[in-house]
Amino acid sequence: MIFRQLFDPTSCTYTYIIASECGGEGLIIDPVFEHTEQYLKIIGELGLKLVITLETHTHADHVTASGSLRESTQCCIAMAEESRAEYIGLRIHDDEKIEIDGTTLHALHTPGHTDDSYCFLMEDRVFTGDTLLIRGTGRTDFQNGDPHQAYESLFYKILLLPEHFLVYPAHDYQGMTVSTIGEEKHFNPRLQVNSADEYAEIMNNLNLPQPKLIDVAEPANLKCGFGYRAK
Ligand code: FE
Repeated sequence: MIFRQLFDPTSCTYTYIIASECGGEGLIIDPVFEHTEQYLKIIGELGLKLVITLETHTHADHVTASGSLRESTQCCIAMAEESRAEYIGLRIHDDEKIEIDGTTLHALHTPGHTDDSYCFLMEDRVFTGDTLLIRGTGRTDFQNGDPHQAYESLFYKILLLPEHFLVYPAHDYQGMTVSTIGEEKHFNPRLQVNSADEYAEIMNNLNLPQPKLIDVAEPANLKCGFGYRAK
């Protein structure tokens, strides 16, 4: 299996490139606009044919490279059926199987951070987007976020996965690259609650500032970055 975890230091976003073998079909999760050339270089070096870009949700902190990658590779843009973005070629729904040569991702709708948040299972790992972060969870105070839904998604979907499953989130702000379901169950401070109301109480009192780029990123992402020009 080819599995690459790439990092954007500006937004602390992780991007993942997946393929079953060099020369085969490839898929990229949560690509960042400014790294388009880097992705194309790696994809070229590995001889991959990029067939799908996949978003875990509509991002507020960076602009997606899905449009720029589609322009270069004619790949398909895959995203939640709940998303309001244009240019989506494959609208993902809950329980959907996303297939490329030799590899299957299983989509789980996990609303809460946003209403269009999805996690993707692949073999022994789960790409959790902002639904579950390492020792944290995604904020629920904009983009139709809802802490009660987030609680349901976490406790009745993601945390029911086997404890050894690897957790690959969409962001990390402390330099952590990977965790496991078991580790997060036991050591993630946000998950040490006894009810949805208790979780919502925490989430509704985080008092976080708006992401710096939200006014730029959100409208650009609703067009999959098409027409966006980085400053
Ligand atoms: Fe997010």
